Amino acid sequence: MSARKPYVGGNWKMNLNGQQAVDLASALADGFSAGDQVQASVFPPFPYLEKVGKVFAAKNSPIQLGAQNFYHQPNGAYTGEVSLDMLKDVGASVMLVGHSERRHVLGETDTLINDKVLAALEAGLEVILCIGEKIEQREADKTDHINTGQLGYGLAGVSDAQMARVTIAYEPVWAIGTGKTATSQDAQNTHKVIRQALGFLYNDDIANAVRIQYGGSCKPSNAQELLAQTDIDGGLIGGAALKPEDFLAILQAAADNAPVPA
Ligand code: PEP
Repeated sequence: MSARKPYVGGNWKMNLNGQQAVDLASALADGFSAGDQVQASVFPPFPYLEKVGKVFAAKNSPIQLGAQNFYHQPNGAYTGEVSLDMLKDVGASVMLVGHSERRHVLGETDTLINDKVLAALEAGLEVILCIGEKIEQREADKTDHINTGQLGYGLAGVSDAQMARVTIAYEPVWAIGTGKTATSQDAQNTHKVIRQALGFLYNDDIANAVRIQYGGSCKPSNAQELLAQTDIDGGLIGGAALKPEDFLAILQAAADNAPVPA
């Protein structure tokens, strides 16, 4: 257990219709009351951001609204893209960057990911930077090399002060949406390496303050064990974030592992 406030994000991906998004937001707002112990955010599809934000505002919920994607330029001829100002306008305050589906399905490069991290931080927003190795990289013993590389590229040019608004999500690609989870010990080992790398890139204070979420088939049945690990400070949740009872159970597991106030 650490002094870091646990942080759980729910990535809704390209799922749900408008009414389902509103119903899910409403159930989460009603069920989550541990905002002083746990930071929580959800990442709905773009068309539902405003509706979901209105539900949270009406219910005075501490759950933050996040965006799954954006383009780093302020405006212009970028057909199909969405700017940070547009997302701020609908109430989004945290941006997901570098998710493996954007890296490996949609072809985002480390350079683009770094541009996005810098733009979101310049805009005053929070960032969750996702990193993680593919199965063939893990089998070739390149897990640490891949994760520290993605970390260094993603954070290039990010200042010490800006790191207060950065969370890292370690998501082994082979565990996302597959039902396969890293063992809590494997995940802890990788989180520790990532935290050491933050120490090299920045300093010990920053390394100790940054939250590192685990993502990859995290669910109520394994959340307690994962979140009890020293360097696991929360989760980025996909499938289980679509079921209010499951996401609320994971938030509760995070609250159970939150530091006891002094
Ligand atoms: C994710 O998409 O970030 C994720 C962790 O998905 P799942 O929980 O479904 O593996």
